[in-house]
Amino acid sequence: MSLNFPLIQQIDALLPQTQCGLCGHRDGCLPYAKAISEGEAANKCIPGGQPVADQLANLLNRPILQAEESVWPIQQDGRPQRMKAIIREEECIGCTKCISACPVDAIVGSGKLMHTIFTDLCTGCELCIPPCPVDCIDLVEDHNLLPSAQEQIGLQDNLRNRYYSHITREEKRRLERRGPIVRAEIDTTLFADFSKHVKSVPIVEVQCKTTETGLNIDAKTTIQLARLRTQIKKLEKQLSVREDEKKRIQLKTLEAELNDLQGMSV
Ligand code: SF4
Ligand code: SF4
Ligand code: SF4
Repeated sequence: MSLNFPLIQQIDALLPQTQCGLCGHRDGCLPYAKAISEGEAANKCIPGGQPVADQLANLLNRPILQAEESVWPIQQDGRPQRMKAIIREEECIGCTKCISACPVDAIVGSGKLMHTIFTDLCTGCELCIPPCPVDCIDLVEDHNLLPSAQEQIGLQDNLRNRYYSHITREEKRRLERRGPIVRAEIDTTLFADFSKHVKSVPIVEVQCKTTETGLNIDAKTTIQLARLRTQIKKLEKQLSVREDEKKRIQLKTLEAELNDLQGMSV
């Protein structure tokens, strides 16, 4: 089924861009926007609360549903209390895990050095808390002035852009195996398609490696293929010196395994 990008964009524009996954869509607001465009209930965005559920119902001409409940109390604007994360810096061991986890790149620091959160950028999504091995990140209530409707749109646009840049960088890093991997692999295809149709967002590239035969493969498969090729070469060399029935069978098995794996990675 082809995607209705104009509608997805309109829905996505109403979502807070916290990228927290609390709506049940692990990869953030865009996958939820897509699901809503395909008929999923539009009351699941927890940080958006009732105002976002109402705006979505209005946009889609659907009945108004009660927004799913947050664990936080409701603010004056009808949304759940905004939160911010704060690192207890004296306890931070500089492992960098929180940096990869933060969808909007609100954390700075480098290996073995103390890390800090730019509180202005932090959305309180909590995604940095579980990966922290020393549990030194706290959540506190954000009592800054509530943004106007116009400011809210500006904030969302900024968070969306930051997330798309984060996706491209983190997925590339995952394939190159640099630094800790703390978040499940993001499905970049939807983001890449969306960014091709919507000019206002940064281009997201699908991250995959291409072999000399033109096959798209992920990092895990690349390693397995390399291992199989090495074993095959070794056996071929041994067999060229002396024939051995057991080694010949082993070679055939490895070659079949290699073919299967290459077939799977198309
Ligand atoms: S902000 Fe709302 S729509 Fe976006 S990921 Fe979180 S719950 Fe889902
Ligand atoms: S610092 Fe933590 S809570 Fe704040 S936006 Fe980043 S991951 Fe979310
Ligand atoms: S995950 Fe925790 S310990 Fe590691 S850098 Fe972040 S705050 Fe510091």
